[in-house]
Amino acid sequence: MKQICLMGGTFDPIHYGHLVVAEEVRQKFGLQKVLFIPAARPPHKMGKKISEAYHRVNMTRLATASNKYFEVSTLEIERQGISYTIDTVREIKRIYGIETVYFITGADAVLEIINWKEAEKLLSMCTFIAATRPGYNLNNIKETLKSLPGDILKRILPLEVPALSISSSDIRQRVMEGRSIKYLLPESVEEYILKNGLYRKNTAEKLFLPEMEIS
Ligand code: ATP
Ligand code: MG
Repeated sequence: MKQICLMGGTFDPIHYGHLVVAEEVRQKFGLQKVLFIPAARPPHKMGKKISEAYHRVNMTRLATASNKYFEVSTLEIERQGISYTIDTVREIKRIYGIETVYFITGADAVLEIINWKEAEKLLSMCTFIAATRPGYNLNNIKETLKSLPGDILKRILPLEVPALSISSSDIRQRVMEGRSIKYLLPESVEEYILKNGLYRKNTAEKLFLPEMEIS
C-alpha cells in the first residue's frame, strides 16, 4: 500500500530544520513521498504577518528540488481560507486513494495538537510523527495530551532527529537586522530572499487579522 507523509507549515521561510526532519522521517519509515504543504492561513498565526503564498511556495520548491522523494503541494493555498490539517488529510486521502497517512510535526506543534480542529478525529486518521526540536520537551506529550484516549495517543510516534536550533522567526529577524542567514537554509532560498527583498522592514506582507478569519 502506498504511504504518504505530509509536512505542514508556514515555511516562511523553509530552512534546514524542516528539511532534516523530513528526510529523517522518510528514511526511517521507508516512505516514497514526503509532501510539503505550505499553509494558506495557519489558524495559530492569526494577527501575525506572513509572506505572500507564492513566495513561500517558491522557496519550498527551491529547497526540496534536489530530493527526489520530496514534493510541494499547493492544496492548502488553492483551498484558501484557514488551513486546517484535518481538511488537508481528508483531501489527500481522497486524491491519492490511500488509507495510511503520516503527518510530521515538530515537538512544539505536537504539544499544541489538542487545540487543532477536530483533534481526536484527526489523530485517528493518521499517524503523527513528533520530531524532537531544541527548546521543546517531548516527554511532556503524555501529560499535555492526557485527556486523549490511550489508543489515540499511541498514534503519536516520537522521533529523535539531529537537533537544529533553527526557526523561521529567527531567520526573518536576522534579515530584518541585516544579519547573516548563511548555513541556516539552502543557498537557493537565501538567494531568493535577498533577490525579492523578503523580510526587510518595508516588505509587503499580509496581516491576517482575527476578524478576517471566517469567510
Ligand atoms: P516560525 O518560527 O515562523 O513558527 P518554524 O521554524 O516554527 O517557523 P513552521 O513553518 O512553523 O516553522 O513549522 C512547520 C513544522 O516544522 C512544525 O511542525 C514545526 O514544529 C517543525 N519544525 C520547524 N523547525 C524545526 C526544527 N528546527 N526542528 C524540528 N522541527 C521543526
Ligand atoms: Mg512554528
